[in-house]
Amino acid sequence: MEKQSKQQPRQDDLIKNELKSIINAIKTHIEFERGFGIDTVTISKSINNLPLPVYHKKTLPLESPAINSSSDHISKNEKVRSRKLLEELRNEILSCHKCPLGKTRTNLVFGVGNPTADLMFVGEAPGRDEDLQGEPFVGRAGQLLTKIIEAIGLNRKDVYIANILKCRPPGNRNPLPEEIVLCLPYLIKQIEIIKPKVLCALGTFAAQTLLDTKAPVGTLRGKFHAYKGIPFMVTFHPAYLLRNPNDKAKVWEDMKKVRDLLNELLQKDKNYST
Ligand code: SF4
Repeated sequence: MEKQSKQQPRQDDLIKNELKSIINAIKTHIEFERGFGIDTVTISKSINNLPLPVYHKKTLPLESPAINSSSDHISKNEKVRSRKLLEELRNEILSCHKCPLGKTRTNLVFGVGNPTADLMFVGEAPGRDEDLQGEPFVGRAGQLLTKIIEAIGLNRKDVYIANILKCRPPGNRNPLPEEIVLCLPYLIKQIEIIKPKVLCALGTFAAQTLLDTKAPVGTLRGKFHAYKGIPFMVTFHPAYLLRNPNDKAKVWEDMKKVRDLLNELLQKDKNYST
């Protein structure tokens, strides 16, 4: 009997801890779903036979405020100048045939978005939809990226989106090292013109290329690195998330860090100018 009473508190603790971790997991899941624009959370009937609870997003506040403004602090002249420089760069590479992808592409996929964006995303290479439309991230992965951007309180037009490669590798194969070497200077120029406060690499190729490392994305993600002094977050590519939806929560954690750092940097700018 004495033995049982000693074991009882430990079992209670175990159950409490288990319940805590389940509740935390549910909270993270709800916050993530809400952040990615999903209105309701459905709990499987297999858990029990109780009526299914439905959570509406308005009842679930975010942990910290969304980003207030994207580029109010940037002068009109600066925006005009960046737009012009990007346009000149685009015209310069429209007929690029430095690598064989220039022959097989339908359209060059230069980049899209705010020419003075505070946040710039860098992906891998155009896919089929992007090649046809001449714009990065317009397919299913692109729709998910738009949701990710909106989840941190920005619109797609507030940020800038570009890829390491400007032309589609046939059959969506991985970029070859020599293609990356030849195309990378264009992306570097884009970053120099846009001067984002924060960079976010989407997936292995963007992360490994800009950080000059062979480390896997799984170990690079979740913390800030630096690219030429710019805070640089690494997260999973949206196309990977479509195949591995369980990792969406990790991306949501990464994006909350991006949102918080951007808010902090924008607030510093505001304090400095007043
Ligand atoms: S992928 Fe880059 S380097 Fe190759 S042809 Fe296209 S723009 Fe030129």
